[in-house]
Amino acid sequence: MGSGTQSAQELSAQTDCIFCKIIAGDFNTDFVYQDDYVVAFDDISPQKPVHTLIVPRQHVVNLEDNPDPELLARLFSAASKVAAIKGVAGTGYRIVQNNGKGAGQTVFHLHVHLLGGDPFTENIV
Ligand code: AMP
Ligand code: ZN
Repeated sequence: MGSGTQSAQELSAQTDCIFCKIIAGDFNTDFVYQDDYVVAFDDISPQKPVHTLIVPRQHVVNLEDNPDPELLARLFSAASKVAAIKGVAGTGYRIVQNNGKGAGQTVFHLHVHLLGGDPFTENIV
């Protein structure tokens, strides 16, 4: 174990992970929402009028990294709160979550994308 002064979240932070750095406050990112387990911030390259990322504070790579089911529930629960905060609750929004390079994952710290704000014209599922 560590020195006893670091939280589990700090111990799990990866020095080369951009989302761990954002969570640590290194870039003074505005958090749309935060609680003890997750933070949410707007995507730097929005694909919709509303495009917000919901990210666990704990560094987990993706669904193949055995995330705690409770943490996954917290991510989805936070996503619905973020939808309300961003004004898209009730208008139709999407949650997207990429697992692995082959699916387009580019940041290897688990996150869900909340997308909305105008109509979806294409369905991939
Ligand atoms: P994914 O492709 O599912 O891994 O999604 C990663 C997302 O993170 C992309 O939509 C990027 O635009 C976004 N992103 C990368 N760096 C930052 C950053 N510094 N701040 C906000 N969003 C970011
Ligand atoms: Zn990370």
